[in-house]
Amino acid sequence: KRSETAMYVYFEANMQARIQEQSRLLLELHHAVQHHQFEVYYQPFVRLLDGRFCGAEALVRWRHPTRGMVSPADFIPVAEQSGLINQIGMQVLEQAAYDTVAQIQKGLWPANYQLHVNLSARQLLSADFIDKLQSVLDRTQLPAENLTLEITESQLMSHEHLATSGLTKIRALGIKIAIDDFGTGYSSLAYLHQMAFDSLKIDRSFVHSMTENSTNQRIIEAVVAMTRGMDVHLVAEGIETQEEAERLRDIGCHFAQGFLFAKPLPLAEQPTERVTDKLPTR
Ligand code: C2E
Ligand code: MG
Ligand code: MG
Ligand code: MG
Repeated sequence: KRSETAMYVYFEANMQARIQEQSRLLLELHHAVQHHQFEVYYQPFVRLLDGRFCGAEALVRWRHPTRGMVSPADFIPVAEQSGLINQIGMQVLEQAAYDTVAQIQKGLWPANYQLHVNLSARQLLSADFIDKLQSVLDRTQLPAENLTLEITESQLMSHEHLATSGLTKIRALGIKIAIDDFGTGYSSLAYLHQMAFDSLKIDRSFVHSMTENSTNQRIIEAVVAMTRGMDVHLVAEGIETQEEAERLRDIGCHFAQGFLFAKPLPLAEQPTERVTDKLPTR
């Protein structure tokens, strides 16, 4: 009994500490939004058929004055809960759009380079999101066809109807949609077919160790088969080895992203070559 009480006191104290930590984070996050402490890193992806760099995903980083670089996993959940994700997401989108236009103008990225930006359901659900999206395109002069917005399968699943109508409105602007972390959200094939999207990003948990785990490989093969008749780009995330890249190419997955080709890096450190030298030759 006594030890039970001790356990309880321990959990209480622990919970208290966590609540305090969360509210401090929230306060700092407000400050970060006001003072534009966010930076955008870019992780390119390649076409497996020829190794060409086709586009890059914008990934937010928070340069915290004392804690250093904070990764999105540590603040996106709090940003989503508080609604701050609306402002953070817009800052990321605007920066990424400016950067992309500049890179294309300098001839560093080809004119059809695809910019991928992550979107939270919370943004999709906010009433003025479509207007804000259009005004970013107007201000930055980024052509709509250069932009893809990524939303995770699990977020889509939890906001079914609103999300579906939101996606249709985004596509009406000429912007493309990618379903992110696909395979972790339990959507049904029937549901998927009703949805308006342009690419599917296979979650890295399936890619990771696919060469040792035949179940993972069979799941990816099933996704390839399932999307064969659809006009959809399949992108595999988290490729770390040449063997994985080769296997994916053989299975019929056309695009890939991962540390093998490039890590997320600041704009100034993007790969300068047009084609990766990391793909094994046939
Ligand atoms: P995500 O959109 O699925 O992005 C891919 C994540 O996987 C990135 O983590 C990337 O660094 C990591 N990754 C890429 N290739 C590899 C690999 O080969 N091996 C391994 N182990 N990891 C790899 P990051 O940058 O920490 O971002 C984590 C998540 O945070 C993102 O997952 C995305 O859901 C979210 N996020 C990032 N930026 C934003 C943003 O601007 N807005 C929103 N709403 N979410 C964002
Ligand atoms: Mg993503
Ligand atoms: Mg992803
Ligand atoms: Mg992921």
